[in-house]
Amino acid sequence: MKVYNYKDLSESKIEELCSRQIEDDKLVEERVADIIKTVKNDGDKALINFAKAFDKVTLEKLYLDAEELKSIAATIPADAKKAIETAYQNIKVFHQSQLKNEDKIETMPGVICWRESRAIEKVGLYIPGGTAVLPSTFLMLATPATIAGCKEIVVCSPPQSDGKTNCYLAYCAVLLGIERIYLIGGAQAVAAMAFGTETVPQVYKIFGPGNRYVTTAKTMVQNKVAIDMPAGPSEVLVVADETANPSFVAADLLAQAEHGTDSQAILVSTSNEIIEKTLLDVENQLSILPRKEIAAKAIENSYAVLVENLSEAMVFSNAYAPEHLILATENFESLIPLIINAGSVFLGNLTPESAGDYASGTNHTLPTSGFAKAYSGVSTDAFLKKITFQHLSSKGLNNIGTTVETLAAAEGLQAHKNAITVRLKTLEDLK
Ligand code: NAD
Repeated sequence: MKVYNYKDLSESKIEELCSRQIEDDKLVEERVADIIKTVKNDGDKALINFAKAFDKVTLEKLYLDAEELKSIAATIPADAKKAIETAYQNIKVFHQSQLKNEDKIETMPGVICWRESRAIEKVGLYIPGGTAVLPSTFLMLATPATIAGCKEIVVCSPPQSDGKTNCYLAYCAVLLGIERIYLIGGAQAVAAMAFGTETVPQVYKIFGPGNRYVTTAKTMVQNKVAIDMPAGPSEVLVVADETANPSFVAADLLAQAEHGTDSQAILVSTSNEIIEKTLLDVENQLSILPRKEIAAKAIENSYAVLVENLSEAMVFSNAYAPEHLILATENFESLIPLIINAGSVFLGNLTPESAGDYASGTNHTLPTSGFAKAYSGVSTDAFLKKITFQHLSSKGLNNIGTTVETLAAAEGLQAHKNAITVRLKTLEDLK
């Protein structure tokens, strides 16, 4: 892990450090475009063929129904069942609190405007399942979808080697009242949800993380459906002062690094001693991790920055716009107002990112690759649309009439003007 001194960094070097690795994805793009076209043309048959080719399973049926899910869910170990229930409860409470009604606003006497939320009727959730089983992602997506009131929730996840799903995902489905899991992975799952097949319903918005095939497919179907956000490899930035505990910081950096070889873990610290001790601890903790090869590669792509003070640390953090930001400092409150760009923030030395990844209540589907400059993470809002309403009384029409007529005339839109004029005239005639 390289160490930089902030005061020696030129603007262009900072820009380079804050830009994420962009791989040449031409080959993936071509393959994904081909998969999308095949699913559009051949529907279910294509999905069965791709399951055979990529997941090495022969599917007789493209989904597991409620009964099958129930029987798989019954095999879940008791401790995992309890952990899923606790995480679900916290995620539910936090996401329920996001449902808010807005006030009706009288913008001028007799002119009333307001917004109401309506759930997106059909949503598609992708739950990754290639190399790791991710019940946490199921909870993070399906919980807000059910709270928002989405009528149709289509869940796709790659089939496991037995041609089914595992007990964790099955238990999440039972807990959330999801009656089907479609056994479809990768780009073909995204294409099926975007265009629909004989078996898979078409949806209006697709959510969820995934590997390069999944995320490339989501980008490519955007002219047909909405997506939650663009996605890239996961990342963390830790701001640490002299009150930080190096072994906690090292553990947090490695928790990110074990996600994938392209993950990034950045340390920004006011203390050279903390940087040195943390890097030493990274080496020690890394050597005993089961995913040490993956984590070691990610650590190679990562770096530390020594800064003069915490304000400088926050300037760098905002330029990087991390998906996860950890403030490993005792006095984190004073830094909160300085945060401009971040997906989710973890405050203080006892708040690891893992808490938010699984169970504290906040959502773990977050903007990566600098998109935290413009995107929010998934929340209940992401499953809702806001519809505006307005009502004009006769007083309102009289009050606003001339303004609209004048602006419509200025834009040369006579019919727009007339829509006011004929009403004003009728009101006048009634007098
Ligand atoms: P996945 O479910 O994303 O992908 C598996 C599917 O990829 C397979 O079913 C197959 O259809 C397809 N595939 C595999 N090889 C292929 C090939 N050669 N050509 C075409 N398609 C192919 O599961 P995964 O691979 O384990 O990846 C999960 C990803 O999700 C990881 O990168 C992980 O970091 C990411 N993730 C991110 C977050 C987040 O919030 N940012 C959360 C969880 C997971």
